[in-house]
Amino acid sequence: MESSNLTEPIDVLEDGKSFLRLVEYIGDDFGIVQSARVSFGQGRKTEEEDFKLIRYLMLHNHMSPFEHIVFKFHVACPLFVRSQWFRHRTWSYNEISRRYTSKNIQFYIPERFRKQDLSNRQGSVFSDEINNDIARNTVKKQTELALNAYNILIEMGIAREHARIVLPQNMYTEFYATVNLRNLFHFIKLRISPEAQWEIRQYAKAILEILEETVPISLDAFKEKHDLK
Ligand SMILES: Cc1cc2nc3c(=O)[nH]c(=O)nc-3n(C[C@H](O)[C@H](O)[C@H](O)COP(=O)(O)OP(=O)(O)OC[C@H]3O[C@@H](n4cnc5c(N)ncnc54)[C@H](O)[C@@H]3O)c2cc1C
Repeated sequence: MESSNLTEPIDVLEDGKSFLRLVEYIGDDFGIVQSARVSFGQGRKTEEEDFKLIRYLMLHNHMSPFEHIVFKFHVACPLFVRSQWFRHRTWSYNEISRRYTSKNIQFYIPERFRKQDLSNRQGSVFSDEINNDIARNTVKKQTELALNAYNILIEMGIAREHARIVLPQNMYTEFYATVNLRNLFHFIKLRISPEAQWEIRQYAKAILEILEETVPISLDAFKEKHDLK
């Protein structure tokens, strides 16, 4: 199932190079109701009863009916976001191979930089005290150096799989990722949290936009359960 508006790429990181795109999806809120009621040999009832059932399932951790709804995304993100994302083992992934191609290499240059958070050792905060122009130029220069080194190695005939060792963490990668709604909610819960890195949080927010359109009742129950409203 898909509609053209829903499958438009969403710009995620303010730099015009990142995106999250819904490729296709299977099922909707009522597919969840249908799967849950098969236990009683029943299907859909009134809208109000269906809504109550979804809320009940969510709030009581009866999550298996959510596994029947499946989403496939196309993602462009920096390598460090990809590393965090791929820790989620319940997704299926296929990624562009830098052993195979040396074309279309792009880098994430943040618009706004963050300071180290003093209370959370893993965290960071946006701050007016930072000169974003200087920070951006510093990253840009380093990135150009790395790309230059890569191109020199490629021109020397060094293999792509070997030359890529000079490419930095802010290089973009692309992948397809497929997941069921239960595990997608788990991902969002962990990655939209203020504990998670700002960049991956933006992807979690973009996924919320898609769920708003595709499974609004389940999303509403999820937000209620996790205090996200
Ligand atoms: C804010 C934040 C900080 C983090 N910091 C670090 C860090 O410093 N270092 C680091 O290494 N990681 C870090 N992680 C990654 C984290 O440890 C998890 O690997 C990641 O969030 C994936 O979560 P998950 O295993 O629950 O998800 P999934 O892999 O999608 O699994 C979903 C659920 O399936 C079950 N499951 C999946 N595989 C297994 C299995 N093999 N055995 C048993 N149950 C399984 C579990 O119930 C799991 O919760 C961080 C994550 C977050 C959100």
